[in-house]
Amino acid sequence: QTSRELHPEDTVITLPHTTIGGVGNFVMMAGPCSVESEAHVSAMAKVAKDGGATILRGGAFKPRTSPYSFQGLGVDGLKFLREAADQQGMDMITEVMDEEHLDVVCEYTDMLQIGARNMQNFSLLKAVGKTDKPVLLKRGMSATIDDLMNAAEYIAAGGNTQIALSERGVRTFDNKYTRNTFDVSAVPVLKKLTHFPIIADPSHAEGHWDLVTPMALAGTASGADGIVVEIHDNPEKALSDGPQALKPHTYKEMTHEVFALHDML
Ligand code: PEP
Ligand code: MN
Repeated sequence: QTSRELHPEDTVITLPHTTIGGVGNFVMMAGPCSVESEAHVSAMAKVAKDGGATILRGGAFKPRTSPYSFQGLGVDGLKFLREAADQQGMDMITEVMDEEHLDVVCEYTDMLQIGARNMQNFSLLKAVGKTDKPVLLKRGMSATIDDLMNAAEYIAAGGNTQIALSERGVRTFDNKYTRNTFDVSAVPVLKKLTHFPIIADPSHAEGHWDLVTPMALAGTASGADGIVVEIHDNPEKALSDGPQALKPHTYKEMTHEVFALHDML
């Protein structure tokens, strides 16, 4: 069901405020890595919207590398993100980390995110495949293109074909200066192989805020259907992924350039 050969038309995902995929549609998703508080996510939603995003991102359940790092606000985080999205007339996306939380996440969100670390959590993929929520499936950091396609197939096999795929960087031999390596060619390869929309995530690919705009532009130029990016007004104090967060003015410059480039294509 994932193959372009069997299904030549682009998959188009329709959310209340956003259309993802299809010719001419280009989506901006932005927000903090983690939902940190009601007031903070509300302020970040305003910034996201002002820069042209129509989907607010934020993690309530966080897949942290260390068990001692901030794990997210849980259900309170879902509530705060929902309120902030509604205040701005935006759609909401958030990560579901395990099946146990799937029902409660679905109660609040418009779109589910499957994180890189869960890309091959097949029981979670099957469970998400039985919901009616659109899914952003992120590429695992060591996953091949075929691994990603097969993971998408797990979701689609359950009946849910509202899937977007995200290139968020993979591990390579030299990740000293970048958190991962943004596999820019994965975008046109996936566009060729599959009919699902492709969303570039330059934040997790790069890990450093000053590399985010160049890779957002590269992702756009390579044919992505949208960008997902992390923003924070005070990155030094962010509870997760501060070094890669764009401050509000940099974010707005980035979206301005990205939208202008997309219009030229
Ligand atoms: C995130 O979006 O904050 C995240 C944890 O992303 P990834 O799963 O790609 O690391
Ligand atoms: Mn993050």
